[in-house]
Amino acid sequence: MEVMTSPEMTPVTVPAATAPDADEAASRRAAQAAAQAAAQGAQQMRISESRAKAEGRAQVRPTAEGWKQAMGDDGRPQLQFTAKARVSQPPVHLADLTLDERAAKLKEMGLPGFRAKQLSVHYFQHYTTDPEAMSDLPKDRRAEIAEVMFPKLLTEVKRLTTDNGDTVKFLWRLFDGSLVESVLMRYPGRVTLCVSSQCGCGMNCPFCATGQAGLTRNMSAAEILDQIVQANRVIAEGGLGGKRRDGGHDAERVSNIVFMGMGEPLANYKRVMNAVHRMVDEAPEGLGMSARGITISTVGLVPGIKKLTEEGVPVTFALSLHAPDDELRDEMIPVNSRWKVDEALDAAHAYYVKTGRRVSIEYALIKDMNDHGWRADMLARKLNARGRGWVHVNPIPLNPTPGSVWTSSEPDVTAEFIDRLESAGVPTTLRDTRGKEIDGACGQLAATE
Ligand code: SAH
Repeated sequence: MEVMTSPEMTPVTVPAATAPDADEAASRRAAQAAAQAAAQGAQQMRISESRAKAEGRAQVRPTAEGWKQAMGDDGRPQLQFTAKARVSQPPVHLADLTLDERAAKLKEMGLPGFRAKQLSVHYFQHYTTDPEAMSDLPKDRRAEIAEVMFPKLLTEVKRLTTDNGDTVKFLWRLFDGSLVESVLMRYPGRVTLCVSSQCGCGMNCPFCATGQAGLTRNMSAAEILDQIVQANRVIAEGGLGGKRRDGGHDAERVSNIVFMGMGEPLANYKRVMNAVHRMVDEAPEGLGMSARGITISTVGLVPGIKKLTEEGVPVTFALSLHAPDDELRDEMIPVNSRWKVDEALDAAHAYYVKTGRRVSIEYALIKDMNDHGWRADMLARKLNARGRGWVHVNPIPLNPTPGSVWTSSEPDVTAEFIDRLESAGVPTTLRDTRGKEIDGACGQLAATE
């Protein structure tokens, strides 16, 4: 396991010394540094607590309550950028490959290149991997071709439906036994799928269910895409929503993707981007979706945001900020120890400047933790300092994880938080909590399995 530590996370170390004098000087320096750090912490604590008090509110801290995060030897939450053990990826699937790569693979099997297109139509347009249904392929080789091009990636373990059938949550088992979730939601005029990008997550945010078990491995591009293809198949079979007035579901398919399921997409950059390319590639090479309908949400991995900015695919970008002050964000979002609020906001703003795409700021409202009026004001100030019209804020009431003592903000507090942002000129939309009754919050279904 590779545990990343930042300069701020490195405990004060005393250099090895030979002379007693040097020993003494070094330990004096270490003690001074420790005292300074403690004083700084205490002072920050006072700022947060006194501001809450001035509003007649309490200041709940993420570290004092709720479930226990994995901690390193230095007493800091662990960040995990790579898997704990050597893990293998699933077999290569048609969806991992470009059309040319598919043709090359088929040629290796002694098959003509045009078969690649036929197979791609079956998968990306008819959502089928069943050799029996592929009557345009030579009968004696159908089974073999399907086995090579369509290894089984996702096995359905559980399906839960709510909101009159307009929300469907899937729990999938992968080839190695890992469990991941996706959530399908029908809205007027669009169908959104919330996809997972990693098995587990290494970012260790204390309020998120996925973070509790750590990271098992990255998902392959095809595993990410197969969530969409499976959802499209379910829709085509009539598995989403009640009866439609026009009597059919044929024309309906997933139109929007949000990378807000399990995992940190920018920590699995290459495979996620390969999947995104396949989502926007024209059919039958890919799904022919619009990049604007794809939202990549990140905890704030600044180098990843910069890479995404240069990528040239105009996806929608969302930053999970959850606190405008480093004092609180350091505890709520452990990766803030590496990239601070202002750095993450600068990177988000640069994304807007380069792509012209308005950025979303995600803000889970947690009672007495991050929902104070002064934080709404500070957030508005920090956003407006970078310009107008480049950003909107999406507060979402916390969906409490099992065993968590934290809860979502009171309605009047939520309303005031939004009011303060709106009156400062920051467009703000409260996100709905679809699927709350079916453990909609990230990773809850997998966690209870
Ligand atoms: N790792 C990425 C994407 C996955 S989480 C990210 O952090 O953005 C998708 C969103 O759900 C994030 O904004 C995350 O902070 C939020 N989230 C996680 N747990 C939640 C909970 N219990 N209630 C509400 N939102 C939650």
